[in-house]
Amino acid sequence: MLESGSTIGILGGGQLGRMLALAAARLGLRCHVFAPSPDSCAFDVVHRVTCADYADAGALDRFAADVDVITYEFENVPAEAASFLASRKPVIPDPDILAITQDRLSEKDFIAKLGIQTARYASISSLDTLECAIEAIGLPAVLKTRRFGYDGKGQVSIREDTDPAAAWRGIGQQPAIVESFVLFEREVSIVAARAQNGRIECFDLTENEHRDHILARSRVPARVPDALAREAQAIAEKIAAAFGYVGVFAVEMFVLSQKLLVNEIAPRVHNSGHWTIDGASVSQFEQHIRAIAGWPLAKPRRHGALEMINLIGDEVKDAERWLRHPGACLHLYGKSAPRPGRKMGHVTLLGGD
Ligand code: AMP
Repeated sequence: MLESGSTIGILGGGQLGRMLALAAARLGLRCHVFAPSPDSCAFDVVHRVTCADYADAGALDRFAADVDVITYEFENVPAEAASFLASRKPVIPDPDILAITQDRLSEKDFIAKLGIQTARYASISSLDTLECAIEAIGLPAVLKTRRFGYDGKGQVSIREDTDPAAAWRGIGQQPAIVESFVLFEREVSIVAARAQNGRIECFDLTENEHRDHILARSRVPARVPDALAREAQAIAEKIAAAFGYVGVFAVEMFVLSQKLLVNEIAPRVHNSGHWTIDGASVSQFEQHIRAIAGWPLAKPRRHGALEMINLIGDEVKDAERWLRHPGACLHLYGKSAPRPGRKMGHVTLLGGD
């Protein structure tokens, strides 16, 4: 168990790192954030910062010497940096898990091997393999780069009138997967924490709406039958146990004809769990800190029906309106430029408003 006053190292300096650090501070723990960008919004709220490239061995070494345990808020941390750090201090969750989830093919193979359903998918390494896969899987489909894709980046839709060669060029002719396009009824996610002793605590199933591939709004509880919500939890538990996972993670799923198809695993705290800060007895951020510190997990209790609205780009200009809105809890991430698609803050609406 980490003692009060210990220092947690966080790789990545975005809003997830910022909210992790705020939760850690409440528990009497310090954070040291390592991130390459000088305007990382997590830098504003922590004890110490390192602004350096993930390939800077000297900076990684000094960072490791200063902290007691290392975690990340950003799953595209280079595997070499994670394993370099793991040779010096505990890195939680395990970098091997990061390596699997960074690659959409190994991630989907891992899920499928557990007997969990996903959209039909195939590995793509050339235009030929893409044409064969389209033949086998059918259209519409989505072509996704295996690595470094998030919020819809590195993805191209393929319909009847799409030229496969153009789609292949569209993702930069990189190793990819193609999946059938799921005409889902809803998108849902489970955010859960697993402790070092294997105990798992799930937050309630959350329903998510995306706009331009970016999460726009979450509501909880998700509008699905109880049996499906229980099945989603069972899927999360199976994945976490198979990984021997420690910390918070999220599993994103599609709901289609009362079935769940897993889309993605996020080995970190997740945007669809932001409602837990104001809407539950323990937040996803605190659960993650508890798990990596070897502290007992809390049993989360939700405070009624909730909605979480992301403030993306210029939507942050509505902040004043939200400040006046009854039952609205406003979170601003302290980012300077409201670029299109940039997550600037969020609002949690209590009481199903
Ligand atoms: P991803 O980057 O895989 O998380 O995808 C981002 C969003 O794109 C998802 O949340 C869905 O809204 C949409 N999407 C991704 N893959 C599919 C698919 N196979 N079928 C339908 N929608 C998808």
